[in-house]
Amino acid sequence: MNAECLFCRIVAGEIPADVVHSDEEVIVFRDVNPQAPTHVLAIPRRHVASAHELGPADGGLLGALFGALRATADAEGLSDGYRIVTNVGPAAGQSVEHLHLHLLGGRRLTWPPG
Ligand code: AMP
Repeated sequence: MNAECLFCRIVAGEIPADVVHSDEEVIVFRDVNPQAPTHVLAIPRRHVASAHELGPADGGLLGALFGALRATADAEGLSDGYRIVTNVGPAAGQSVEHLHLHLLGGRRLTWPPG
């Protein structure tokens, strides 16, 4: 855990969050500033700064993250589709330096994003 990290503090239960999925490796919680009817964040329990830090040894973690999001999409009834996105670094708008996959759904999503 990184004591300075907002999402590590959510994992530790120090900051409340609306958690919709929790397992050994991953938690999924609702974004505090939702950009779609369903907007959740999937994060690893261990501190990883961004997707740029991931490598071949992280295949299991990636499977856990995507599996948790698939379960969440099913639970939210997003059978028509949804988007998974992760921002890396300041130019992409990453505002929390703990890997998080956004899942957005429940409305028509345009492309390309801004
Ligand atoms: P990004 O800008 O890609 O780094 O995404 C960070 C996301 O975290 C934003 O969509 C924020 O709304 C969200 N966020 C920030 N603080 C919290 C919090 N305490 N609980 C839930 N979501 C948060």
